[in-house]
Amino acid sequence: MQTHDVIIVGAGHAGCEAAAAAARRGARVALVTLRADDPGTLSCNPAVGGIGKGHLVTEIDALGGIMGRVADAARLQSRLLNRSKGPAVHGPRAQVDRALYRAAMAEVLAELPTLAIITAAVEGLLVERGRVAGVETSVGRLSAPAVVLTTGTFLGGVMHIGSQREAGGRVGAQASDLGAALRAMGLPVSRLKTGTPARLDGRSIDWSVLEWQYGDGDDPRFSRFGICSAAGNGRPPIPCAITRTNAETHRIIRDHLGESALYGGHIDSVGPRYCPSIEDKVVRFGDRDGHQIFLEPEGYDDITIYPNGLSTSLPLHVQEKFIRSIKGLEQVVILRPGYAIEYDHVDPRALTPGLGARAVPGLFLAGQINGTTGYEEAAAQGLVAGANAAALALNLPALTIDRTQAYIGVMIDDLTLHGVAEPYRMFTSRAEYRLRLRADNADQRLTPLGQALGLVPPAQADAFAAAQAERDAARALLDTLTATPHQLASHGIEVRQDGQSRSLFDWLRFPAVTHAAARRVWPELASISDDLLASLAVDANYAAYIARQEAEVAALRRDEALALPADLDFAQVAGLSKEMIERLSRARPLTLGAASRVAGITPAALIALLPHTSRNK
Ligand code: FAD
Repeated sequence: MQTHDVIIVGAGHAGCEAAAAAARRGARVALVTLRADDPGTLSCNPAVGGIGKGHLVTEIDALGGIMGRVADAARLQSRLLNRSKGPAVHGPRAQVDRALYRAAMAEVLAELPTLAIITAAVEGLLVERGRVAGVETSVGRLSAPAVVLTTGTFLGGVMHIGSQREAGGRVGAQASDLGAALRAMGLPVSRLKTGTPARLDGRSIDWSVLEWQYGDGDDPRFSRFGICSAAGNGRPPIPCAITRTNAETHRIIRDHLGESALYGGHIDSVGPRYCPSIEDKVVRFGDRDGHQIFLEPEGYDDITIYPNGLSTSLPLHVQEKFIRSIKGLEQVVILRPGYAIEYDHVDPRALTPGLGARAVPGLFLAGQINGTTGYEEAAAQGLVAGANAAALALNLPALTIDRTQAYIGVMIDDLTLHGVAEPYRMFTSRAEYRLRLRADNADQRLTPLGQALGLVPPAQADAFAAAQAERDAARALLDTLTATPHQLASHGIEVRQDGQSRSLFDWLRFPAVTHAAARRVWPELASISDDLLASLAVDANYAAYIARQEAEVAALRRDEALALPADLDFAQVAGLSKEMIERLSRARPLTLGAASRVAGITPAALIALLPHTSRNK
């Protein structure tokens, strides 16, 4: 039997990130997956990032993860979404080339000397004396004290096109029946669903009648310091096109609604509310005159087009009919029909904040299996689970991230405390401390933590240290340079004449003090790059709000420092009502802070818990 420190099951987005994190911490890792070309496979849309999701990618990168580097290397075009809004909600997003994404992922994984990729199906989990001891695979047994399950949509996967049903994890891939093993271990397993649109032949689209959408000229990237030499770089960005559904499209869909897997009664599990099928959109927002559809190329050397916004489980003949009613798509050829998929997931309330299964020591879960949807959500969990699997195997410090530190912390706190009623995806609105949690400061928030845990590669750590030194020097200069309103006026900068001398850092909050104007007044600024000055101006603008948030963060950290025993029997806590006992028993909070965030928990219940707390070390 082969022995490893950590076994990762599944080389999707969660699995690859988990493998990289565990290997970076020095673990001997086996990444076991169904097909050799799994690493870097994008099951659905050819894009990474977006609002909230882009934050996750920059945080993964700041912690030494790989998704940002891979996406940068494979991009077809990139944009900063929400650019007109405040920097806290700017969302980097890249359209990527599927083939290049795989190539770049393979290159990045090949850099990890302690990682072995094994093509096999994991058929069971080995458990000894109540702890995970390894996995049973189609090519033999593997042993390890820590196993990370990242099986995506594959557990009990059933694909639906109209009334047709077929077992499978995604098109062209077998399903996995590990769900039964998880149920047998007492883990709470239930069903969710998601869907994908048809893929179109780009040569059959009339591009001449469509509107184009280009990437941003400044080509925003996810990774500040990551280096990935894989192919894509150097080729010119390519645009997407935009079209719309119309009244005729909606009529066709409505006329055939009963034939859709969802509305025909073939599926009853819940799908992602924020990524609805076109049937859902027509039923829910039927009065709209049309829904925008983005025609996204799948690669530089690929004729396939992904029609973003047309996810469906209608039969193929209906898909053909409604898609051809859309402008530019009148003659379109469908390369592959859209479909819906139902799969098993585990209620993430069964997990600790480190993503370990409470009931089965040594078992970690990450990605779609925990009820999330999206590559970025999966990858972020993978990094945490992989880092903690290595911690368990090698007796290293664990990685936990709280809500005040990162969107990753927000997501894991939401999942492990509240569970999911529908596939969970990230939004900036989920983060209460979002002024601090910006995509542009992810490295400052997280790279030191990643470094301390051995997750950040040396080249990235060096580049970060150099950038921090430059930033600190620039900030010191902005604090030193001062001017009165009168002095600014003498350079043609009109601000309120209140007679108060301010530092340049403070003046940067005033709209009249543009960066060009500041450079005119203070030639010393020549030593600061445009990007760095812009980033420091963001700090200046948010300084007052962030100071206010710091007080809330301090209060939260105080409550987070009060630990509750993992095996606390809430029924035995004096003063808790039946309802409070039920809510707390389901969520199993590990700190007083976490207990306070369980829905419906009263201040009286928190007071009742106080005698059971102890101070976290
Ligand atoms: P995956 O990327 O699915 O990877 C799972 C991996 O596990 C695979 O490599 C598989 O081979 C491997 N595996 C599974 N079982 C075993 C086993 N027993 N032994 C060995 N290996 C195994 N996300 C969105 O954000 N929006 C969408 O609209 C959307 N639509 C989707 C539509 C479809 C049809 C599908 C399939 C997925 C869709 N997704 C969507 C989800 C997106 O693909 C996932 O969120 C993301 O890929 C999850 O990453 P993961 O690492 O958890 O799993």
